Amino acid sequence: MVGVESTAHTLSLGFVGEDGELFSSESALFKPEQGGIHPREAADHHSVMAPKLISSLLSRDDFSRDDIIGVSFSQGPGLGPCLRIGASVARSLSSVWKVPLIGVNHCVAHIEVGRNQTGCEDPVLLYASGGNTQVIARAGDRYRVIGETLDIGIGNMLDKFARHHDIAFPGGPEIEKLSSRWLESGKAEEYEFLQLPYGVHGTDLAFSGLLTSAISHSRNLPLEQVCFSLQEHAFASCIEVAERAMAHTGKSELLLGGGVACNGRLREMSRIMCEERGGKSFWPEKQYCIDNGTMIAELGRKEFLSGRTTPIDESSIDPSMRTDSSIISWP
Ligand code: AMP
Ligand code: MG
Repeated sequence: MVGVESTAHTLSLGFVGEDGELFSSESALFKPEQGGIHPREAADHHSVMAPKLISSLLSRDDFSRDDIIGVSFSQGPGLGPCLRIGASVARSLSSVWKVPLIGVNHCVAHIEVGRNQTGCEDPVLLYASGGNTQVIARAGDRYRVIGETLDIGIGNMLDKFARHHDIAFPGGPEIEKLSSRWLESGKAEEYEFLQLPYGVHGTDLAFSGLLTSAISHSRNLPLEQVCFSLQEHAFASCIEVAERAMAHTGKSELLLGGGVACNGRLREMSRIMCEERGGKSFWPEKQYCIDNGTMIAELGRKEFLSGRTTPIDESSIDPSMRTDSSIISWP
């Protein structure tokens, strides 16, 4: 199964074996020269890169066109112009290769690739990415959203803070480095902990107040110190909501997904929280945390094996597709 991902900044083509073996993706990341992601510019980038990624995939020794049983793509949620490019690429490949087309839900794909890679069975997912921040758990035939951000995604918040300090996109990894530097310098213990807005609202989250306050503190304080406190507040709020979700649902596994799940401190916090409540935390390899075609292929494979394909006249994209709109018909 081939998967095409194009919800936002990343165009990516990946594939999985029929038994669920994961193979790395061919990816191209759109990096705006300045400012945030303009959907039209990102889509232009994707349409230029699509032929190159298809060629790279076809030339790989571990890829065999004859083994492909279908082509899946992110049908939503995401940026409309970007989604349309991925959908067009998938429709073309499916028609040329004469295999079924399968439109899938991007958020659900993060869960399924994580389950595949880590072996966890019935987790609460903390999905922390650029545009999305959701805490999700399965109930019956759906993945239900227990809590989510009420304003911006946690990754967007980190990227905006970084951009304010002329740090290039993606800002999350650089903020992680600056935070570690603050911790290693030993100053984190010397200084009083910086108090920033903490955006937990029941099981929902909010990050814009935290962003505004962190930007304003960074005018007078070392950038490393503010990055450290920004991470501590943002991640603690996610872990608190994840823990509440585990308590409510009685589930004992926590799975991290999304680009922010690459962060060592978020992983550490999730490990500590789970250990303290007798549970277990999981996270996939970094290449499967960030947006990637392999995860779309993995969800497409599960959908296909449970008998679902997408007729071409039902393959239009849905930029505001909800996590719980997809029926989950596999164990
Ligand atoms: P995604 O939207 O899932 O592809 O993830 C992209 C987001 O992940 C961007 O907002 C990045 O800044 C963020 N990100 C990537 N690596 C890290 C990291 N090590 N720490 C925090 N955020 C990260
Ligand atoms: Mg994502």
